[in-house]
Amino acid sequence: MLGVKEIKSILRENSIRPSKRLGQNFLIDENVQKKIIDAVGLAREDVVLEIGPGLGALTEALCRRAKKVIAVEKDRRLHAFLLKNNKSGNLDLVQGDILDWDFSDYPACRGAKIKIVGNPPYYISSPILVRLLKNRAFINTIFITVQKEFAERLVAAPGTRVYGAISCFAQFYAEPENLFTIRKTVFYPAPKVDSCFLKIRVREEGLYLTDEEKLFKIIRQCFEKRRKTILNSLRMKEGFGAREEILQALDRAGISPSRRPETMSLKEFVTLADHIKTRGGS
Ligand code: SAM
Repeated sequence: MLGVKEIKSILRENSIRPSKRLGQNFLIDENVQKKIIDAVGLAREDVVLEIGPGLGALTEALCRRAKKVIAVEKDRRLHAFLLKNNKSGNLDLVQGDILDWDFSDYPACRGAKIKIVGNPPYYISSPILVRLLKNRAFINTIFITVQKEFAERLVAAPGTRVYGAISCFAQFYAEPENLFTIRKTVFYPAPKVDSCFLKIRVREEGLYLTDEEKLFKIIRQCFEKRRKTILNSLRMKEGFGAREEILQALDRAGISPSRRPETMSLKEFVTLADHIKTRGGS
């Protein structure tokens, strides 16, 4: 793989200044690259979607192991560089934004479920995860590098400081697992913070059978103001009925109105969703 000297000279020769906006921090450490590739553990029949291949730190190694790799790169300059320099026969390089990616448009995504691998910019970790989990019918496992704080939120248990709506969403649709920490010094240019490499096994179905739209409406509202009690959170906006109705629903669900939402398990949110009425019917 490319070392820091080679990366600097490629960037210079191609008049590319790493874009902060696109989160361009390129992996320069062969041990970390190997650790990532080993953790992904590809089999010959796997199809991989790589998010943001950059200068290709992972791309060739993925191509050597998988049946097919689709690499989606937003930056036209990096896309052009890769087109010229990566000749793997099983690589499809696509110039585009992963947030616009439509799995159903792409034939290779429609067969067996694919694996996602990526080290995307930190500021879009959350929208990427939401988009991927909404497209979970196409996906088997997501391997992704994210900012350490974001990784902690995804795997957080109820009652912890970082447990919130995104923890509930990720754990309802998948099994996020923090595999290892990646120090900021293994990237050029070095980002400000360390990262974690996550394995997120996608569930075939949501963890519990329930009205998912209602469940996440409750969860989002409850975590908007973390310090409020569950009763006050649900009363904050219209949508869950009058105080009396909410109290009855909490009672039927066996949840004390003075509980803080951050102490509630996913199962408890589901029980609440099954008992509370939302305006407009459900
Ligand atoms: N994977 C390479 C590596 O590890 O060296 C590059 C990682 S760099 C942190 C993030 C990459 O994602 C950059 O190549 C950047 O241009 C690309 N990128 C940023 N936003 C993107 C988006 N919305 N869709 C696809 N690629 C994106």
